Amino acid sequence: MKDVLIIGGGIAGTTLSFQLHRAGWTIHLVDEPKEFTASKVASGLYNPLVLKRRRVVWKAPEMLDTLPSFYRQMEAECNGDFFDDKPVWEVLHDPGVENDWVALSDLPKFEPLIGAVLSNPNPNVIAHKIGEVAGSGRVDVPKMIQEWSKHLKSISSFSEGWVEPQELTYSDDSWEWKGQRFKRVIWTKGFDHHHPHFPDLPFSPTKGEVLIVKSPELNLDHILHGGVFIMPLGEDLYKVGATYSWDPLDVIPTSEGKEHLLAEWKKLVNAECEVVEHVAGIRPNVKDRKPLLGKSTEVPESYIFNGLGSRGILMAPWLSEMMLNFVQGDLQLLPEVDINRFS
Ligand SMILES: Cc1cc2nc3c(=O)[nH]c(=O)nc-3n(C[C@H](O)[C@H](O)[C@H](O)COP(=O)(O)OP(=O)(O)OC[C@H]3O[C@@H](n4cnc5c(N)ncnc54)[C@H](O)[C@@H]3O)c2cc1C
Repeated sequence: MKDVLIIGGGIAGTTLSFQLHRAGWTIHLVDEPKEFTASKVASGLYNPLVLKRRRVVWKAPEMLDTLPSFYRQMEAECNGDFFDDKPVWEVLHDPGVENDWVALSDLPKFEPLIGAVLSNPNPNVIAHKIGEVAGSGRVDVPKMIQEWSKHLKSISSFSEGWVEPQELTYSDDSWEWKGQRFKRVIWTKGFDHHHPHFPDLPFSPTKGEVLIVKSPELNLDHILHGGVFIMPLGEDLYKVGATYSWDPLDVIPTSEGKEHLLAEWKKLVNAECEVVEHVAGIRPNVKDRKPLLGKSTEVPESYIFNGLGSRGILMAPWLSEMMLNFVQGDLQLLPEVDINRFS
């Protein structure tokens, strides 16, 4: 019998499975490999600031404490290469914006997160100055998912496929699925309005679109932010994102999304680009913008790890550790993330 069956292999299931695996748990991860999930289209940035509103993300310092070592250990465990802690460059458009940015570092909670202010090193970037965001960087999410699942497959702990809750049966203090037994099940399915084990969770999902563009003349080696992100992918390719919309909630890219992102590109850089790809995914946001962790009150030994919203990469190492301690019975969940806050 294994300790846990994890259902859903996006950022949530991938990071949680690593967290439990490194704690010595026996796990099995099962994922339906859809092409356009939130995790597959995500830019993978982690960034402790809400840049538009000049705010610190909820619990960001705690999250950053464990983040680099978590992803580096994961890389080491699966022989992967997906973590990059090169800081994000915030575009400072004029001396007034630069002064406001520098003034933030006088506030104790911002001080560790405001990095160096640089003269604009790239003539193609439209900026007065560049502000480095300390404690920011990127995870190449599709690569992380691929390399971790390949590793799990090599130890017979991963399979592909769709799992319906009715396929699982609980008896003799354990769950049975496809002839295997598990002490518990954890659902990490991304946005999901209708789960019988967790009815009525107030998801408020958002659709996001990104472009992959080719621009041989841009020559940018850092992630640039100013309204949207421009992220270098190598070989003159850049990811540009992301949009936010609610209706319709599908993964079909729109001409409005494309026009918006290209207009934002032009505000940030003086460089021609050609659109190579245009994709969309659905973020598992929640009405109160906090994650959804907890245990079912409907059925035994069934847990949820979800609601990573727009910041899965930043939150996942810290939250998955909290989830581990909760499932082990060592720790209560923070009330802000506990699904019981809605009951
Ligand atoms: C355009 C866009 C850009 C983004 N950029 C960033 C960013 O830069 N940084 C950041 O941190 N976050 C970003 N996000 C948000 C991030 O993508 C999410 O926080 C994260 O991907 C959520 O992960 P998840 O595993 O909960 O869900 P998902 O990515 O939706 O993964 C769920 C997985 O479970 C599988 N699954 C579902 N049901 C079943 C079932 N019944 N049986 C088997 N498998 C199942 C699905 O096929 C899928 O593979 C972005 C999102 C979008 C849409």
